[in-house]
Amino acid sequence: MVHAIESYTGKNKKNKISDAFAKEALNLLGTNIEKAVFNGSDVKVRSNMLLGTTLAGISFANSPVAAVHALAYPIGGHFNVPHGLSNSLVLPHVMRFNLPIASKYYAELAMVTFPNIDFKGSDEDIALKYIEEIERLIKKLNLPTKLRVVGVSESDLEMMAEDAMNQERLLNNNPKKLKKEDAYNIYKTAF
Ligand SMILES: [Zn+2]
Repeated sequence: MVHAIESYTGKNKKNKISDAFAKEALNLLGTNIEKAVFNGSDVKVRSNMLLGTTLAGISFANSPVAAVHALAYPIGGHFNVPHGLSNSLVLPHVMRFNLPIASKYYAELAMVTFPNIDFKGSDEDIALKYIEEIERLIKKLNLPTKLRVVGVSESDLEMMAEDAMNQERLLNNNPKKLKKEDAYNIYKTAF
């Protein structure tokens, strides 16, 4: 899901093809993930997840990922946290950071990711609700939501922020410019 969200909001290479793949991916992933997690023997649902992740992969091969991944790498690299989890730990916080620039895109994705929710209001309202729904999903799936739970200490945050800044290719593609203090603040919120 992160692959599709970041592809769709990418600053440099977002295009109609990456957009189409991202939307289809998020529709499949958003409508199947809970069923797949809570009933692993449903082959149709798991097929939809595989198709969704593949389409998201095609999307981000055309329009790369950005700051969520840049901030996830130090979590995965230093603390041996799986890739998806390291991304989900920072995803809602990076989305809130990007909100002033990316609300239109998040609002567009909200409708396809959670088609059963009646999103109402301005792009900003819908984008905010989208982030809240993603947080709800993360909790529902029983994923850790705090860096402290996966072995990170508060004294690590400075080093992690410095490390994240090395991901220039990804940071340059983020919709909103992200500086080291922003990375630190995001980690602090996620801590
Ligand atoms: Zn990834």
